[in-house]
Amino acid sequence: MPRPLHAIIHLDAMQHNLARARACAPTAKAWAVVKANAYGHGLERGMRGFVQADGLALIETENALRLRELGWVKPILLLEGIFDTADVPLLAEHNINSTVHCIEQVKMLEYTQLYRPIDVHLKMNTGMNRLGFRPDEYAAAYNRLRAIPGIRNITLMTHFANADELENPRLSIAEQVRRFREGAAGLEGQRSLSNSGGVLHQAALAKELHNDWVRPGVMLYGGTPGGGVTAREYGLLPTMTLKSEIIGIQQLQKGDTVGYGSRFEAPGPMAVGVVACGYADGYPRHAEHGTPVLVDGVKTRLVGRVSMDMMTVDLSPVVNARVGSKVTLWGDGLPIDEVANGAGTIGYELMCALAPRVRVHEG
Ligand code: PLP
Repeated sequence: MPRPLHAIIHLDAMQHNLARARACAPTAKAWAVVKANAYGHGLERGMRGFVQADGLALIETENALRLRELGWVKPILLLEGIFDTADVPLLAEHNINSTVHCIEQVKMLEYTQLYRPIDVHLKMNTGMNRLGFRPDEYAAAYNRLRAIPGIRNITLMTHFANADELENPRLSIAEQVRRFREGAAGLEGQRSLSNSGGVLHQAALAKELHNDWVRPGVMLYGGTPGGGVTAREYGLLPTMTLKSEIIGIQQLQKGDTVGYGSRFEAPGPMAVGVVACGYADGYPRHAEHGTPVLVDGVKTRLVGRVSMDMMTVDLSPVVNARVGSKVTLWGDGLPIDEVANGAGTIGYELMCALAPRVRVHEG
């Protein structure tokens, strides 16, 4: 028997969440973001789960080529663009859209003869200060791209730092939109602004945020982008359920401690269950006592430190817990964001960190 730990990927929930994104931004075309191995779900499953998307967006050229091999014929977007001049011919050959975010990438395109036209996304840095041209440099970059014979469509693009918040005093979405408008004034092209937070944003700016393309990621995987609204409240369904079993039980007396560092001390007689899942499987080591876990469908909590292959949970609320009791670590019945909260992180990180040794299947 294999070790009782597996992740179940819910393709129907992926389809449902994409439909939610479309309902939020009905006039937009949608790139489904499948970077980081489709947020831990597997690239091919991402492709199948989001078969209704208008395009798939990811990071690595080799994964874009893999999507083509797997039969994806609709557009593909490289979110960080190309890293080497040698990749330029691949864009043309395989009809891959590239982000262009710095002058070095403009030069790579200028130096390489394109024997077939390509489309690009020109990225503006509107305050995130990660990738992109500043608003005052943007038109110049645009004009250089326009002058390259093989470049067909230039989509005007930016990325939000705080799209999940209505008002961030340091950098609001409204301020980023204002800078974007200023930098893109007079430039022709479709627009692509919103990640999940922007897609789910239904306030005054929504119309502008939802055209012409959106780029949802985490919401498609049933995670909230934040902002104090849960995925369930957004009408999203979990797409990954991580399941294990109780593989051992210890009966503790008052004062007994559990695990490395002896960080949990039993306040009285109690049973703890040992679960076959640890940080080498992608469960966060920093999860605190109290992080929720389901045992036989009953909500209980993590106790003690997560170790490499195992973790320990309080069995007090679970009637008839036994070796073999079913454990849900996140997903169906237990929102991944609640677990992430307990570890001081976000659902995104937990999904992406799922370790290769965890068996994955669809269901
Ligand atoms: N667009 C770009 C450029 C990104 O880098 C990302 C992810 O970081 C996304 C869209 C998707 O973001 P989210 O998962 O918050 O929807």
